[in-house]
Amino acid sequence: MMYRLNSTINHKVVVFSVFFFFFILTSGSIVFFQVMRHFITARSAEELTQFAESKRLQLEARLSREIELTVRLAESPLVRLLFRNPDDPVIRPIGVAEILAYGKAFSSGVVSWGCDVDGRYYEGDSHLTTYDPDDAYHQWYPAVRDQKEPFSLNVYHEYFTVEDWYLYINAPVREHGSEGARGIGVVGNRVALTTFLSFLYGVDYAPPPDSDMYLFNGSGEITAARDSAFIAGAAEKPLLSDLFAKAGEKIVSEIQGLAPDSSFSFIDNNTQYMVIPIASLNWYMVVVKPVAFSLILGNSVTIVFAAMMGVVFLVFVIFNCYISTLIKPALTLAGIMDMILSITPNLLAVVDEKSRVIYMGKAMRDMTNFYNAKDCEGKPILDLFNNEDMKAVIGEAIQQSGYFETIRKARIGDKGQFFKVMANDIDSIFRGKFLLLVNVTATMMYGLTDPLTGLANRRNFDQCLKDEWKRAIRDGSPISFLMMDLDLFKHYNDTYGHPQGDQLLKVVADVIARAAKRPADLAVRMGGEEFALLLPNTKLLGALEIAERIRREVEETCIPLANGKGTTSITISVGAACMIPDMQKVAEELVSSADELLYEAKHQGRNRVCSRDHSEPPRWSIFDAT
Ligand code: GH3
Ligand code: MG
Ligand code: MG
Repeated sequence: MMYRLNSTINHKVVVFSVFFFFFILTSGSIVFFQVMRHFITARSAEELTQFAESKRLQLEARLSREIELTVRLAESPLVRLLFRNPDDPVIRPIGVAEILAYGKAFSSGVVSWGCDVDGRYYEGDSHLTTYDPDDAYHQWYPAVRDQKEPFSLNVYHEYFTVEDWYLYINAPVREHGSEGARGIGVVGNRVALTTFLSFLYGVDYAPPPDSDMYLFNGSGEITAARDSAFIAGAAEKPLLSDLFAKAGEKIVSEIQGLAPDSSFSFIDNNTQYMVIPIASLNWYMVVVKPVAFSLILGNSVTIVFAAMMGVVFLVFVIFNCYISTLIKPALTLAGIMDMILSITPNLLAVVDEKSRVIYMGKAMRDMTNFYNAKDCEGKPILDLFNNEDMKAVIGEAIQQSGYFETIRKARIGDKGQFFKVMANDIDSIFRGKFLLLVNVTATMMYGLTDPLTGLANRRNFDQCLKDEWKRAIRDGSPISFLMMDLDLFKHYNDTYGHPQGDQLLKVVADVIARAAKRPADLAVRMGGEEFALLLPNTKLLGALEIAERIRREVEETCIPLANGKGTTSITISVGAACMIPDMQKVAEELVSSADELLYEAKHQGRNRVCSRDHSEPPRWSIFDAT
């Protein structure tokens, strides 16, 4: 697992960095673009508003001048006089001169006029037509003549060309008689579309850069455009919605609920629209300008941003390289560690304060039902084992505090295995325990085990006794010790031969080994036909029970002869001593005491247990075989 760690973590760092960089790049670009767009469009909206507003004011001023002149002409007493007497040879030249003088002031240069008396209609002083009450095209004349308002505006075009398209400003000429004011004729002024455009766009017809401008009425019909061909070619007035689709519809629906003097602007499909009403005309002006992305991309701030992103990228590359070199030794070590841990036969575990598994090596996992390290994590270590011996060995180790080391036997399958058990506290990164069980069965077999019987040998016993003695001093617990010797074994040997004697020794050893039930119990062949059983943390009473059981079992065991002709039997004498070790005593005292008691048992007739409890006031006790 961990040996894959090296490449996996490197890979992870790279992947994370790449994703993180692209996240920063994308989110940064989006934010930057939005801010720049907002900034640039706000600036261009301001520019557009200023432009459109100045054009609107020019237009309004121009119109109000034309209207004022027309209304003033309609109120002229000379005009009224002319209208009453159009054919009077004295009055007519004076009236017409007045009209022609006004005509010079009009932008069109012409005054159109007509009166009821002769029903004729003139432009300047030339007769155009005569009013026909039955002609539908002439009906504007009585309408204007009879209106109360000082003037009216009318857009008229017969043919849709720039030249023929006029805004008419008509004013009624009134006579004040006994029944009040009465219309007697009309005077008219007209503004040609070409004239409009020339003062909207100036001499060079130049709107702000990239933009265009249109006039339209309340129904969304385009009434003026910079491109005269656009209007000249049309059979009908083009609609805003034809030109700007959805945006055109939006403008029309907006202006219908709009106070006549308020402007608005919006962005649709990357185009900016600025709508400004011209109140006196009931028309609107729209200035159209695409949102200039080229402005954003070509902006010096964008170049700085791109350079910044480049620097960020470089930082990421350097960061990656640095992290890789930084973690490389740790990863290599982890890889090596994992390789070792996955192949080592040693049983290894790390547990937390509550003995829950933090890490368990493969060899130890193999003794549990858990194959994956992940499945073991967090579980109480003792719950993972079915084997009672392993449970006892590990249970003992995790209960110790500080460094602990011992050798324990556990039955794995049907074989007894020896483990050197080591445990130590961890309190650096977390609080817990480190456990290491090294299988020393092989070593024990060759160096510490008696080859004939498989029991611990004398050397093994000496070491164990030392360890247990120290531990018992620490714990204040009793140690019992049984010293055993076969009765009249010399005779048995002499009678049945040495090989049969060896066979007997194995059988007796097995009886003693089975009596050593706890992991800490140690069955020993001390030498020859002398056996011992070290029983740590055992009181004399317990030890006597075990001793008596061994004595009885040996007595009751029939050992078949090698030649198959019958069986043999033997008895054993036991000396049992118990001590609570302290600093004043030495372990040898326990052994020699048991030795003395064994001698005592022999002396008293063999096949018996003699005991002494050194943990209590001295007292002899004898278990008689009979
Ligand atoms: P006692 O009841 O007083 O102990 O009598 P005993 O005959 O057992 O006396 P002793 O302890 O002196 O006898 C030891 C005998 O054990 C001597 C030797 O023949 C026998 N012996 C010692 N080691 C071995 C061994 O490895 N194999 C066999 N077959 N016999 C052994
Ligand atoms: Mg002996
Ligand atoms: Mg003997």
